[in-house]
Amino acid sequence: MTKTKMKIENVHKSFDQSSVLRGITTSISEKEATVIIGPSGSGKSTLLRCLNRLESINEGTIYLDDQSFMDIPIQKLRTRVGMVFQSFNLFPHLSVMKNLLLAPTKLQTSKSKDELMELGYSLLDKVGMKEKAESYPEELSGGQQQRVAIARALMMEPEVMLFDEVTSALDPERVNDVLETMKDLAKSGMTMVIVTHEMGFAREVGDKIIFMDQGVIVEEGTPEEVFGNSKEDRTKAFLRNVL
Ligand code: ADP
Ligand code: MG
Repeated sequence: MTKTKMKIENVHKSFDQSSVLRGITTSISEKEATVIIGPSGSGKSTLLRCLNRLESINEGTIYLDDQSFMDIPIQKLRTRVGMVFQSFNLFPHLSVMKNLLLAPTKLQTSKSKDELMELGYSLLDKVGMKEKAESYPEELSGGQQQRVAIARALMMEPEVMLFDEVTSALDPERVNDVLETMKDLAKSGMTMVIVTHEMGFAREVGDKIIFMDQGVIVEEGTPEEVFGNSKEDRTKAFLRNVL
């Protein structure tokens, strides 16, 4: 039995009068890749942002391990749950290594500068970017920048990593490098929640697939259950359009 890392109970979220998440209940298992799919506007990004409190929720509860989010200081929560976005947001005036060192030197920690540098090099190595430690973001391709952004998020040694359409802004020939990096991370046992339009990747890497539409989870299960044998008409219609 895998351990539950995050529990999401009856989460509701509205912006003004518009209800974007309408009672989301699910769980994220430790060391698994949970992949969220669904049409544009269905609330995927909003849900992901709720999972590290970039958005507050109107109703419901989210737990990390057995602790309610309300009992975890927000800065602490954000070091425990890391996030990577579609736009890489690297600091343009800082080298790759300095991008990696910025947050951990500001926020923490028990680690010395040397230890952080060592961690930085090992993470850059992990994403295939070690030789670019002294380069600046503008000297890198989009795919390379995104891999640096992943390494930067890993610097905080998060327990859970959230990925919101991290390949959507890349040139098609750069997409694979980033997907491979995420695959390696999944294999290494990282707990991941991934929003993606890459259905082949979702099917291959996902331990669990969640299909969302209009602020609710329509269906969830193994890749085989959701892709191979979907039960709901809305899921079937979505997959017909994207596959
Ligand atoms: P997805 O990621 O599945 O495309 P989002 O979570 O981005 O969906 O958006 C779901 C709905 O919430 C959309 O209708 C979007 O316009 C709305 N929404 C998202 N963020 C905000 C916000 N900050 N203010 C107002 N409406 C928002
Ligand atoms: Mg989105």
